[in-house]
Amino acid sequence: MSDCVFCKIVKWETPSQRVYEDDQYIAFLDINPINPGHTLVIPRDHYENVLDVPEEVLAGMIKIAKKVAPAVVGAMKADGFNIGINNGRASGQLVDHVHIHIIPRHENDNLKSWPSRSRYADGEMGATAKKIKDAIK
Ligand code: AMP
Ligand code: ZN
Repeated sequence: MSDCVFCKIVKWETPSQRVYEDDQYIAFLDINPINPGHTLVIPRDHYENVLDVPEEVLAGMIKIAKKVAPAVVGAMKADGFNIGINNGRASGQLVDHVHIHIIPRHENDNLKSWPSRSRYADGEMGATAKKIKDAIK
């Protein structure tokens, strides 16, 4: 897509610091890292999110993340990492070209992986599981 910033990165119309690339995928540094070394994995082809991307392309993205993540951790001397994919504005997705975040994590980096958790009311957990089960196609 012509106005997509990650498509522009693919075409070298926007500069990037690439750490890995092959004929289908690119991994490059996030310009506003949560921690230094924060890396994004994208397919060269434009798909909006996890629901749009073909299963085999998504599987390939995971494969690249599994290859790149230990390098990010090693090079950044990190203690762990988060991987995540935002889908839709409500989740925080800003760039509509599917991407995996690889975020190196350090003991005591004072980041929270997730906000604080809630609790289900009595009976609500079973009802919620049923709703989801019934919605699976
Ligand atoms: P998301 O919020 O999951 O859509 O993440 C989009 C990410 O893309 C953000 O973390 C941005 O910092 C990053 N980003 C946006 N533009 C660029 C760019 N030109 N080069 C590298 N990373 C970018
Ligand atoms: Zn794109």
